Amino acid sequence: MADIFVLCDYNDNKFAKHICKNCGKRVCDDHFDTKSGWCTACAKGRKGKR
Ligand SMILES: [Zn+2]
Ligand SMILES: [Zn+2]
Repeated sequence: MADIFVLCDYNDNKFAKHICKNCGKRVCDDHFDTKSGWCTACAKGRKGKR
């Protein structure tokens, strides 16, 4: 019950509905990539470099 209202770890004051499978950050819809299950930062790093 304690962890229901958690804010996004990117500090945008939205509720975190997801947990990144890569780094474990709790993130809102805007910061979550549903395809990979990762947060946007992790998803970017994965796509971009290489
Ligand atoms: Zn967010
Ligand atoms: Zn992540």
